[in-house]
Amino acid sequence: MKVAIDGPAGSGKGTISSILAKKCSLTYIDTGVTYRCVALKVIEKGIDLDDKDAIIDIASKIDIKFMSDGVTYLDGKDVSSKIRSKEVTSIVSPISSIPKVREYMVELQRNMANSEDVIMEGRDITTVVLPDADYKFYLDASIGERAKRRYIQNQEKGINMSLEEIKSSIETRDYNDMHKEVGALKRTDNQIYIDTSNLTIDEVVDSIRKVIGR
Ligand code: C5P
Repeated sequence: MKVAIDGPAGSGKGTISSILAKKCSLTYIDTGVTYRCVALKVIEKGIDLDDKDAIIDIASKIDIKFMSDGVTYLDGKDVSSKIRSKEVTSIVSPISSIPKVREYMVELQRNMANSEDVIMEGRDITTVVLPDADYKFYLDASIGERAKRRYIQNQEKGINMSLEEIKSSIETRDYNDMHKEVGALKRTDNQIYIDTSNLTIDEVVDSIRKVIGR
């Protein structure tokens, strides 16, 4: 079974997918992590954002491992918290806009999904990565609600950003993610649209479980 979920930052994709994965015996794949790893490496190597060839070169050789407990290894090192930093978040969207970077990441993501029952979330999963998925969802929420959720998550992870700073970072990322030349975040007629603004996590999980029958 392949379940594909797209949606903007803070729409609940990550939280909902990881709960569904456990309850429905699916492997959870967070595709944002792949782009975040490229971004982290760009920062660590001191590469200029205009140097597309160097960024593409990083994407072509990237060594990422996801563990079932949500831990991510990049070149053998645990980078689970580093990839959520403010610095990575601020450059990940422009990096993921480079078509050749997307080609490498989409290939990697498809390979991860290949032989397993998966729930995969991102921005172009329903449209590009797994267009033949059994079930396709688009999760959404108001900008105020999404900023509030990310603020709480950041506090838990020790990332220091004001609510206003988060809101403006999400708005910039939304715009960029929806206007990419390749792999843009899109709503289509094939997705089941869920506005999670006024729903509890359990309500969203239950409504998806009803659809997928697990
Ligand atoms: O989901 P998350 O917020 O961690 O994703 C980080 C960024 O990676 C997004 O803002 C987007 O620019 C990019 N991304 C993407 N396609 C995906 C998943 C994430 O372009 N499938």
